[in-house]
Amino acid sequence: MAYRKFKADQLFTGEALLSGGEVLITSQKGEIEAIVPASEAGDDLELVQGILCPGFVNAHCHLELSHMKGRIQPGSGMVDFLLGVMKQRNVSAEEVQQAISDAEAAMYASGIVAVGDICNTPDSIAQKVKGTIQYRNFIETMGFIPATAPQRFAFGKGVFDQFESALPGRNSIVPHAPYSVSPALLQLIAGFPGNQLISIHNQESEAETAFLQNGTGEMHRLYEFLGIDLSFYKPPAKSSPQLMLPAFNKEQRVILVHDVHTSDSDLVWMEKNRVTLPEVVLCLCPNANLYIGNGLPDIDLIRKNRFIVTIGTDSLSSNYQLNILEEIKTIAQHFPAIPLAELLQWSTLNGARALGFESLGSFEKGKQPGVVSIENCQEGLSNASSKRIL
Ligand SMILES: [Zn+2]
Repeated sequence: MAYRKFKADQLFTGEALLSGGEVLITSQKGEIEAIVPASEAGDDLELVQGILCPGFVNAHCHLELSHMKGRIQPGSGMVDFLLGVMKQRNVSAEEVQQAISDAEAAMYASGIVAVGDICNTPDSIAQKVKGTIQYRNFIETMGFIPATAPQRFAFGKGVFDQFESALPGRNSIVPHAPYSVSPALLQLIAGFPGNQLISIHNQESEAETAFLQNGTGEMHRLYEFLGIDLSFYKPPAKSSPQLMLPAFNKEQRVILVHDVHTSDSDLVWMEKNRVTLPEVVLCLCPNANLYIGNGLPDIDLIRKNRFIVTIGTDSLSSNYQLNILEEIKTIAQHFPAIPLAELLQWSTLNGARALGFESLGSFEKGKQPGVVSIENCQEGLSNASSKRIL
């Protein structure tokens, strides 16, 4: 059997960064055979500049919004961003499909092998069935008026059924965010059979916190635009995780996405209640946070509390590109004390585990995680680029 043998300056296994000139051996189609010292690797080495890394996992994206690239001004703030997305949904089907295909091609080329993707529509199914990248699809529901919960859920279930017949076993129905889902709708989502993996936009903006704690702030403008009378609304006076997580059970896993305003007391509360709460994974999307103007999460605090972290790009409506290395660069720039190996693990193994992709995320024998090179990273990451090589 013919093998391929890759040797770079450094090799990231999924958990550790090796600098001893080790060689990665794979089958022709990319199944991992072994990591061996160069002295034992024999000849026919393929020399790669920089770092060899398993394929990246983008834990949070909205592929169907790819046509919105460049359409929403950076720095709009949370509410104007949400209004912008709603106003940009009416474009031709051809434009939507072309943008989805282009965005996926760019993700693939940059080394992304799997995506946790938020879906409000079936628009992305045609691309996903091609199997170029693997997806976990999170069919997103929203509905703030409790009485509409059954209709809202039924609509989401309709989209879910389309995904399930095209891409079986990879789909969940999830709530959009704590400020956009009624308790009745949340109960329907949490109790939906087979809904083991959940993704929620969490504590993305100051506006979310103000609305849940005091019923005040910018979110009123959003509901005004939607024509929703908020006079019935009693703010729960709880933080987003404390409001949402108890709706789910221990067998479920919840990916909390963004976490810009997640406080020390939230993290301590989640840790203290670990026995009864669902498993919690955090997902950071720093470039989208900066694009919208929400600021960045306190990543030092998150690390101090030892939470499992993954990385996402969010959509092209709030990012210049769907590229995990660009997210890593932003984190490294603002939090230079975080070791590169840790950032790479967030981007590979942690994402694969969180989304349930057993054969991705690390160079473990028998896996087929994709092989990526990170080049031009000798002098720091600012000029680095990544590409899929197998
Ligand atoms: Zn999102």
